[in-house]
Amino acid sequence: MADDCLFCKIIKGEIPSKKAYEDDLCYAFHDINPVAPVHILIVPKKHILGIQEITEEDSQTVGHMFVVARKLAEEQGLAPGENLERGYRLVFNVGRDAGQSVFHLHLHLIGGRSMSWPPG
Ligand code: 5GP
Ligand code: ZN
Repeated sequence: MADDCLFCKIIKGEIPSKKAYEDDLCYAFHDINPVAPVHILIVPKKHILGIQEITEEDSQTVGHMFVVARKLAEEQGLAPGENLERGYRLVFNVGRDAGQSVFHLHLHLIGGRSMSWPPG
């Protein structure tokens, strides 16, 4: 935990959030400024600055974040289905140029509308 970190404060409950999921390794909550009908952030409870700081030690945690994302996507009705029609996007913004604004690792789960590629 880092004292001056927004997401550490959210994990500790010092700042309110709309919880989507929690276990020993991670916490998930709805983004305050959603860019799509579903926009959930999955964060490790351990304070890691971002993908730029992960090590082999974090492999289990980071892998687990993807499993949680897949389950949350299914709960939200975003599973691609037989025809692979629906779907969602999983995003790590790494560094300011990529759009990272909070420096505590977080995986964006975004869905509920069609999306274009490449991103802006
Ligand atoms: P980044 O730009 O670092 O990839 O993503 C940070 C995300 O955190 C943004 O989508 C932003 O809307 C979200 N966010 C920032 N502050 C808060 C907050 O206090 N509560 C919640 N729920 N989301 C936040
Ligand atoms: Zn933190």
